[in-house]
Amino acid sequence: MLLTAPLPHQPEVTFHWLRVGHCKGPEAMARQGGRLWPVEFPSYVGALHHPRHGWTLFDTGYSQHFFDATRRLPELLYRSTLPVTLPEEEQLPRQLAALDVDPGDVRRVVVSHFHGDHVGGLLDYPRARFVAGGAGAEQALSLRGIAAVRHAIVPGLLPDDLRDRLDPVEGFAPVDVAGLRGWDLLGDRSLLAVDLPGHMPGHLGLLFTSGGRPVLLVGDAAWTTRSFRELKPPSRLAKGIMHDWPATLRTLAALHDLDAAHPELLVLPAHCPEGHAAWSAGT
Ligand SMILES: [Zn+2]
Repeated sequence: MLLTAPLPHQPEVTFHWLRVGHCKGPEAMARQGGRLWPVEFPSYVGALHHPRHGWTLFDTGYSQHFFDATRRLPELLYRSTLPVTLPEEEQLPRQLAALDVDPGDVRRVVVSHFHGDHVGGLLDYPRARFVAGGAGAEQALSLRGIAAVRHAIVPGLLPDDLRDRLDPVEGFAPVDVAGLRGWDLLGDRSLLAVDLPGHMPGHLGLLFTSGGRPVLLVGDAAWTTRSFRELKPPSRLAKGIMHDWPATLRTLAALHDLDAAHPELLVLPAHCPEGHAAWSAGT
C-alpha cells in the first residue's frame, strides 16, 4: 500500500470529541500482554460542524436507550459481560445542547459499525440520515435475538425506519485517501469516510481537517493509540468477536503506516483516553 502518499487537502470543519459513557472490561482484551484486571473503556463520539452542511455525528456512544434495550435476556447478557456507566453530564443530547445543538439539528450520523456502544443513541436524532457500510447495515438489520447479541448488536437500538434513512457509503463518490479506499460524503472532500475493514462488516473511519490539523477517527479499527503505534493487536480473547481477523491485522498495520508517514495526522480510536488527551492538548 502507498500510505506515504499525501493526505487530501480538505476544507475546515469544527470538531468536538465527546466522552459518552464507558464500559468495564479486562485490559487484556484490548492489548496483548494486558492484565485481566477490568479497566474503563470510554466511548468517544465526534460532533462535527460544517458551515454549509450543518452537524454530523460520528457514532453516538451509549444512551438511556441502551439501558432500556438491554434490560431483558438475551440482550442483558451483553450488558452483564461489559457493565456500562453513563453519567448524566456525559449524555450526548445534553453535551450537544451545551454547544447549542438540538437533536433535530443533527443532519447525519456516520456509523463506524453497529455494535451497541456505537449506535446506542441513534433513536435520539429523528431527522438524521445514517451513513454506514452497506454490509454492516444489512447485518444489523437482519440479526435478531441471541444471534444479534453474539455480534454485540442490540436490535432495540435501531430506529424502525433505519432502512429508509440509510445512505450506504458505497453510494457516495469514491476517493483515494493516501492509499486507502474512501468516499466523499459532502461533495467538497471535507468529510471523507474511510474503509477500515476487519472489526465488523463495513467498518468505517472518518477523515477531516479541523484547526489546521488532519484528524482520522478510526472507530474500533484500533482500541488504543499504543495498539496502532506499537503494532500490538488486540489479544486472542478479542479474536472471537472480530468479523475478519486477517483484515483486522492488515487495517492495524495500515493505521501504523499512516501514523508514521504523517506526523501532523491525529489518529483517534473510539475508546482511547490517550487519544482524547492528545486531541484536547491541541485545542
Ligand atoms: Zn466499540
